[in-house]
Amino acid sequence: MTEIKLHNSRSRTKEVFTPLDPQNVRMYVCGPTVYDRAHLGNARPVVVFDVLYRLLRHVAKTNGWGKVTYARNFTDVDDKINARALASDRRIEEITAETTQWFLDDMAALGALEPDHMPRATAYIPQMITMIEGLIEGDHAYAAEGHVLFRVRSYKQYGGLSGRSVDDMIAGARVEVAPFKEDPMDFVLWKPSDATQPGWDSPWGYGRPGWHIECSAMSYEILGASFDIHGGGNDLMFPHHENEIAQSCCAHPEGEFAQVWMHNEMLQVEGKKMSKSLGNFFTVRDLLDQGIPGEVIRFVFLSTHYRKPMDWTAEKAAGAESKLDDYIKSVAQYGDLEAARSTAPMDEIVQALADDLNTHAALGRLDHLANHAMGTELAANLVFLGLFSFEELEARVAQLQSGKDGLAPLAERLGQVRAAAMASKDFSEVDRLKSALLEAGVEVRMSKEGVELVPGPNFDPSRLEGLS
Ligand code: AMP
Ligand code: ZN
Repeated sequence: MTEIKLHNSRSRTKEVFTPLDPQNVRMYVCGPTVYDRAHLGNARPVVVFDVLYRLLRHVAKTNGWGKVTYARNFTDVDDKINARALASDRRIEEITAETTQWFLDDMAALGALEPDHMPRATAYIPQMITMIEGLIEGDHAYAAEGHVLFRVRSYKQYGGLSGRSVDDMIAGARVEVAPFKEDPMDFVLWKPSDATQPGWDSPWGYGRPGWHIECSAMSYEILGASFDIHGGGNDLMFPHHENEIAQSCCAHPEGEFAQVWMHNEMLQVEGKKMSKSLGNFFTVRDLLDQGIPGEVIRFVFLSTHYRKPMDWTAEKAAGAESKLDDYIKSVAQYGDLEAARSTAPMDEIVQALADDLNTHAALGRLDHLANHAMGTELAANLVFLGLFSFEELEARVAQLQSGKDGLAPLAERLGQVRAAAMASKDFSEVDRLKSALLEAGVEVRMSKEGVELVPGPNFDPSRLEGLS
């Protein structure tokens, strides 16, 4: 049995994870609002919970649990989307469909597996209406002027996740005061739409749902009234997650909603908060287009524990890139990719992840495998951590090999020139060849045994054309 420990935001301690139903381990993560490309910060929860999903799937096998069910939503009804449609004179459905596909492509480039369920909010409007009706029946919500509001004071445990009282929260929050609210803390479950806004018929008139009810309705439909893990960025803890808990527990008192709450810390850039005004705001696609591979972004993410602020720097990206290149060389030299497919992930790596996702420690073990020429194990663990797929590793190893084969005549010539230089003591030709190779992105290794030329990631064969 592998024991998994996870930090539960609600208890603020690491707890041993015990699935409610070992035959079906259930996890819900708040997904993106689809109106624009995902910025680098949006990718952090995706990568963090992808690592957890991979760990759970592995441990499910070794512990004899059943399946793992992972749901992550798309919020495709939101005022930011409406504003984008209006400004660009495009249809809402066009924008949300395009942005959803961008998100999936960009996250796949970071090695994130697709969740088992990816519900879109607009496909669950009837379920949201049913849930809101139930809340009204139970006196937890009231309709007023086309709105439906959740009565926060009706749920005694409100604030239990972040450990704050309602009065403290009112003092600190930017709550919207509206004449139709009984209490400023009450939040919107349903609001009226005009003809220019997306809307659906409901018992309270033509309107659209509030953001929080979406996650409560979709998680209930897909995972049930009680499930295991709920995740998201820590900026969502209040009010979004407090409101999800209030809605779900009041609408479904038979269940307990999520058992374990997990929150990732925020991402910063070069030590500063990422923001448009500071000019350090960029999307995942921007980085990919600059030639920074997805596995490099993922590696940088995994090097910081998810509950610590993570600082994205160009220096870290460069360091990750050269480390991953070394790993590929090690796999090519010492590994057997066929055998790697049936090699279990290293116990120390599983144990590190099982200790509240200690990804930093897990990466450290990759170094150990590389340093001990354990290429097959290294390959299996690179795949387990989602840094590469087996197909990607095969392609990278083949690329390295064909580069090496192509360089073989030059390696031989350099060997001869060097032998001649030893005799003549004139090394100018050796130096000329060496610097041309370095400039073309080839690493030159010379030893008593001979000359080895290793193409690097930026190897450009066209720069060697005049040489051979
Ligand atoms: P949003 O589209 O703003 O609702 O955010 C989608 C997800 O990205 C949520 O889980 C947020 O917590 C997360 N997120 C947003 N900004 C950052 C950031 N700078 N660092 C880490 N996660 C973030
Ligand atoms: Zn949510």
